[in-house]
Amino acid sequence: MYQFSRSIYRELSPHVLEDRGDRSQRNHQRVLRACEAAVERLASDRHYFARPARTLFHEVRAYFPMQGQLLAYQVINRHMALASRYVELHAREGLTFDGSPLCCNATTRKGAPCQRLPLPAAKYCPSHKHLDEELEPAAA
Ligand SMILES: [Zn+2]
Repeated sequence: MYQFSRSIYRELSPHVLEDRGDRSQRNHQRVLRACEAAVERLASDRHYFARPARTLFHEVRAYFPMQGQLLAYQVINRHMALASRYVELHAREGLTFDGSPLCCNATTRKGAPCQRLPLPAAKYCPSHKHLDEELEPAAA
C-alpha cells in the first residue's frame, strides 16, 4: 500500500504551505504521515473507515493555502478511490492487499481469532456472519 500514500504525497507536496522560518519541513512530514496512516487504515480496517478521502482531507487541509484546498481534495479523493478499489479487488479474492489470506474478524469461543475465510464483501465467515447484522443494524 506504500505506493498509494507515496503517490498522494508526491502530488500534494508542491502545494503544502511552508512553515515560516522552519527548515525542518514539519508540514510536509505531517502531510506524509497523515497519508500513510489513512492508506494503512484503509488497507487494514476498510469496513470501519467510512469516508477515507474526507477524513484524510480534514486532517491535512490546514497545511494547504486556501487556493490549494480544492486541488488537495481532488488529489486525495482520486488516490483514495484507487487504493479502495485495489483493497476491494484483493478482498474479493479472499486476500489482503499484501496477498496474504483474509481472515474472519470474529473471535472464537475459546478467545482465538477465527481463521476461516470471510464471505465475499463481508468481514465474517459463514458461521459468524450474524455478527455483521448485529453490529450494523443501521447500515442501510
Ligand atoms: Zn468466523
